[in-house]
Amino acid sequence: MRLMLSAIFILPVLTCGSISVNFTIIIALGMYMKEIILGKCGEMALKGLNRTDFESILLKNLRHRLSCCGKFDVSISQSTIYIRPIDETADIDAAFDIALKTFGMSAVSRAAAFEKDMDAIFAGAPGYLEKYLNSVRTFKVEAKRADKTFALKSPEICRELGGKLLEVFPHLKVDVNRPDVIVTVEIREREAYVRAGQHKGAGGLPTGTSGRATVLISGGIDSPVAAWMMARRGLKLSAVHFASPPYTSKRAEKKVMQLLEIVAKYSGPITVYVVPFTKIQEEIRDKVDEPFSTLVMRRLMMRTASIIAKKEHALALITGESLGQVASQTLRALSCTDEAASLTVFRPLIGMDKEEIITIARNIGTFETSIQPFEDCCTVFTPRHPKTRPQLDELLAQEQRLDIEVLVAEAADNAEERLVE
Ligand code: ATP
Ligand code: MG
Repeated sequence: MRLMLSAIFILPVLTCGSISVNFTIIIALGMYMKEIILGKCGEMALKGLNRTDFESILLKNLRHRLSCCGKFDVSISQSTIYIRPIDETADIDAAFDIALKTFGMSAVSRAAAFEKDMDAIFAGAPGYLEKYLNSVRTFKVEAKRADKTFALKSPEICRELGGKLLEVFPHLKVDVNRPDVIVTVEIREREAYVRAGQHKGAGGLPTGTSGRATVLISGGIDSPVAAWMMARRGLKLSAVHFASPPYTSKRAEKKVMQLLEIVAKYSGPITVYVVPFTKIQEEIRDKVDEPFSTLVMRRLMMRTASIIAKKEHALALITGESLGQVASQTLRALSCTDEAASLTVFRPLIGMDKEEIITIARNIGTFETSIQPFEDCCTVFTPRHPKTRPQLDELLAQEQRLDIEVLVAEAADNAEERLVE
C-alpha cells in the first residue's frame, strides 16, 4: 500500500509546481491516502421526500463551482459531502474556500483519508495533525463510528489515538471540557477520516432550490447584506441598480459591481441591470412636491424593478430596507412602496438594527467596499422635510403629474445588462 501511494503522489511532485507542495507533505508523512474536504448538509438534512432534489442541486452547484480549481470527485452519503481531489490539477486550498462559501453546507472541514485500519491512522494522523496541534495546548479526540463493523468501539478509538498523540506531542494535555482543538476520527463506509476542528459553513439552502428573485442593489451597506441573506435561502439572484449620471458617477457604479462580485462568490453569477434613472429623477424634482419626492421615486423604482424581474422570471423583489431606518422606511411609507410593486417584496433586514447588519456585512466581506464614500441616486435631490406618514391617495395624486407608464417602460427598456461572477 505504502509503495503504491508513493507512486501515486511522486508524479505530481515532479510535474506540477504549486500543487506539488501538498503532495510532497503527503509523501513525507508516507501513510495517509490523501487530503479531502468534508461538508455537512445543514437544514437540508431535515427535508423529507424531496431531500434528494436539494442534495442533487447542491452537488451540481459544487461541481460547477469547483471546475475552476482542478479535477474533484464530489459525492454525498448520509448527509455528508465528500470533495476528493482526483489528480494533480486539484487545488485543495481554492476548493476549500469555495466550499466555505457554498450555500447548503452547515460545516466544512479538511481531513486526511486513511484505510480503515488503526495502524494506518496511527502512522499518518500525527503528521497530518502537526500543523493544528503544534500551536495549541489542549485537545480531545472524538470518534464517530458510522461503520459498526469496525473492530474498535468509539471510546477505544479515542483512547488509543489520544494516547498516540500525547506520545508524539508531549506539550499537549487532554481537556475533555474545553479543549483548544477537537480531533475527530470518522470511520465511514469507504475510509476513515481524521480532522482537527471544523469551520462553520455558509449555511442555508443550495442556490436555486427556492426559485429566483431580483435585488434592488445600491452601493450602501444594507442591500448587499439583504441580497446575501436571501441567496442563502436558496434564491438565484438577479439585480437592478438605478444610476443617475451625471449626478452619480461611474465610480459609484463600479462600487456596486464590486459589491455584487462579493455576493456572487456565494450566490453564483448574477445578471445585473443598470437602469438609467436621471430622467425620472429630474421629472420628479421638477413636477412633484418636495416632501413626496423620495416616496414617488421609490415607487417608480419598484415599478421598474418589477418589469425587469419578470423578464428574469423572478417571483420576488429584495430590498435592504429596515423598519424606521429613514423616513422612507416607516411602516406607512413601506406600505405605499409595496403598493407599487407587482411582485412580493422580501425585506430580510426589516427587524434588524444597523449594528447587526454591519456585523453580517463584515462577515461576508462587503463592509469595506460599502463604506467607500460614493453618491447614490437616493442621495441626490433629497427633500429637506420628507413625509414620514404618507397617505397612498396623496402619492397617487402626485404621480398624476408624471407620465409614469412611459417613464418606467423607457427606463426598463434602456437598462444595460451585465453578468457579474
Ligand atoms: P444604506 O442604508 O446602508 O446607505 P441602502 O442600500 O440600504 O444603504 P437606502 O437609501 O436605505 O440604501 O435604500 C433602501 C433600499 O432601496 C436599498 O436597500 C436598496 O434595496 C434600494 N436602493 C436604494 N438605492 C438604490 C439604487 N441606486 N439602485 C437600486 N436599489 C436601490
Ligand atoms: Mg438602508
